[in-house]
Amino acid sequence: MDLNVKRTWAEVRLDNIVHNLKTIRATLPAGTRFLGVVKADAYGHGAVAVSRTLEANGADYLAVSCLDEALELRAGCVSLPILILGHTPVEYLPILLAQNLTQTVSNLAKAREYSAAARALGQTLRIHVKLDTGMGRLGFLCDGERFEQGVENVAAACALPNLDPEGVYTHFARSDEPGEEARAFTLGQFKLFRDLLAALEGRGIRFRLRHCAATGAVLNYPETAMDMVRPGLLLYGYGDEGRLGLRPCMRLVTRVATIKTYEPGTPISYGGRFVTERRTRMGVIPVGYADGLFRTLSDRCAFAVAEGFAPQRGRICMDMCMIDLTDLPDARIDSRVEIFGETASLDKLAETAGTIPYELLCSVSKRVPRVYV
Ligand SMILES: *Cc1c(COP(=O)(O)O)cnc(C)c1O
Repeated sequence: MDLNVKRTWAEVRLDNIVHNLKTIRATLPAGTRFLGVVKADAYGHGAVAVSRTLEANGADYLAVSCLDEALELRAGCVSLPILILGHTPVEYLPILLAQNLTQTVSNLAKAREYSAAARALGQTLRIHVKLDTGMGRLGFLCDGERFEQGVENVAAACALPNLDPEGVYTHFARSDEPGEEARAFTLGQFKLFRDLLAALEGRGIRFRLRHCAATGAVLNYPETAMDMVRPGLLLYGYGDEGRLGLRPCMRLVTRVATIKTYEPGTPISYGGRFVTERRTRMGVIPVGYADGLFRTLSDRCAFAVAEGFAPQRGRICMDMCMIDLTDLPDARIDSRVEIFGETASLDKLAETAGTIPYELLCSVSKRVPRVYV
């Protein structure tokens, strides 16, 4: 792809995905399976390219949020097992079966629907049962006084015909948080999960794949690895604070489109909120909030050029914004500007925006071409 025709692009390093996969794997007990979470277009990195890379490098499973995301992978010739984390309406059951997809089942009513529909087709749907141990989102209710009823319902779901309950999982709400309170909460969730599994085993129900650890738990609670781990963010090189030596896989890059010199006292961009205080060499870069650069970052961030960091000035517009190049005299029209990546930290940008790196990665919009290097 000719980068010279691109206004703004996202370089994705698939070799870093491989590095991260291998690095995470090396921290796991032998035999632990690896599920790569590739929902939301692989956190903006491109789901098919990332999934193919994972498949070629020994990942065991993939997960997406919905049927459309799973079908995109199958259309892209990805043959690994794929778990759909969210709900799929029962009318799509023939597609789940035909595409060999694994469906999450989060309550007894849905299990009954899938079972009946699969039975009518004379086929068996592979499922993973989801237990809500404290996330307060999807899953069979089974905490506190609802423990017995929860076990009862899961057992009933697993006994239904034409369902193959291959796996069981839960999701931690606070495993990425420091502090004793979050630790106690996470270990409480893990204990409840194991207690539920023990109660189910008491009824003769054993799952082949028990999993609960996403990024936070892979890093902070290695004892929760069980049969399979389920990281997303970590795979893309974030969230480990340098502890594992993971490598960021995406660089958001643009080029200086125009440079103008303004006298002191010149207002810049919508609302004239920023006013130059000195004679200023101002660059215009073709990246704005329609590309995923949050407007809330206006006047609060800096981007990397070859010589150093250029502060962003004035309101970020839909398609462009301005950067101060006065102290970076070597920066010219066409000079590359890294919004985040190797030099400009995504973590820092996310913190400034008052959010998490997940949201910035997923926000890099469709207009920004992904370039695989
Ligand atoms: C998104 C998601 C993950 C991956 O989370 P990370 O924090 O990115 O590792 C794992 N499991 C479930 C159920 C998820 O929804």
